[in-house]
Amino acid sequence: MTTYTPAPRDPNQPPVRINLLSDTQTRPTQAMREAMARAEVGDEQIGDDPTVNLLCARVAELLGKEAAVFLPSGTMCNVAATLSTCRPGDEILAHPTAHILSREGGAHAALGGFQITALHGPNGQFSVETFRAALHPRTRYEPPQTMVSVEQTANIGGGTIWPKSVLDDIAEAAKDVGLATHMDGARLLNATVAAGISPRAMTAGWDSAWIDFSKGLGAPAGAAMAGSRDFIDQVWRWKQRLGGSMRQAGIIAAACVHALDHHVERLADDHANARALAAGLAQIPGITVQQPETNLVFFDPAGAGIDGAAMVAALRQRGVLLATMDGRIRACTHLDVTRAMVDEMLGLIRDIVRGA
Ligand SMILES: *Cc1c(COP(=O)(O)O)cnc(C)c1O
Repeated sequence: MTTYTPAPRDPNQPPVRINLLSDTQTRPTQAMREAMARAEVGDEQIGDDPTVNLLCARVAELLGKEAAVFLPSGTMCNVAATLSTCRPGDEILAHPTAHILSREGGAHAALGGFQITALHGPNGQFSVETFRAALHPRTRYEPPQTMVSVEQTANIGGGTIWPKSVLDDIAEAAKDVGLATHMDGARLLNATVAAGISPRAMTAGWDSAWIDFSKGLGAPAGAAMAGSRDFIDQVWRWKQRLGGSMRQAGIIAAACVHALDHHVERLADDHANARALAAGLAQIPGITVQQPETNLVFFDPAGAGIDGAAMVAALRQRGVLLATMDGRIRACTHLDVTRAMVDEMLGLIRDIVRGA
């Protein structure tokens, strides 16, 4: 039996100068560290940490919900959401590329006994028609369908933005048949900044939604999930059960508050860098690139005579870190990626293709 363990830093490789592996690679800025050092703190587990409470109030307001809860990770948001909403044997509907299906260690089956039915469609999204077609009658034969989950943005779909109209239609159709609606908002604010739609409008109609602070927002850890007061009460039970209750978590929450104040509007810079990267890649003969909508750029160099894994290895030799994901290379722009780095990486890729 093998257990996946990420490779440690390889001493035979040059240091990483340009890191497009993920927006999780951001390091807290000096200003963020100072905000953390200044944070007022208390015992989060008994509701006594003022900075965590402030953050939760901010997120509830931002997402237009009654309440919010701070959790250590986005994965725990998803897991606590399904555990709070579904019962063993229940069916959750989600896209096959969804994080809950492919990247949470089977948590929803292992801990909840839920089955996830894949709803297919291009770019990590499914249509309201596909959703409706997957609904089945409530008889004793079929698993009870209790939740539909979407990912805004759709990560493996290409960082694509679900149109608000589609989200509204799916939420309405779900309400009609009594399904709970859950939004994995690991990169929700990338979507809202790029689309020019407020987060509360984007999540209206969705029972639960969360944002991740450890992705493009640049905090070292933390996620916050919002919903009705009843739902958040249930999530608190699971936060406790799963070991997600913390103590002086205000140190982390201060980084998250700082991110809300300083790192949201600037996500537009990451999107501009992603577009510049995609435009440069598209000019290299043989490289196919998916037009980015946010900060993720998926491309395939196979047509240039070099496969994705070989390209990733060649770039790593030159101090650039990224990886393949589901068969293509994913480059992710973020706080610590400048336009100059994008241009330098494009030059390196041109050299590699020329030598291939
Ligand atoms: C990263 C990610 C998660 C999980 O968030 P963590 O904070 O890494 O646990 C969930 N969904 C999507 C779409 C993600 O990209």
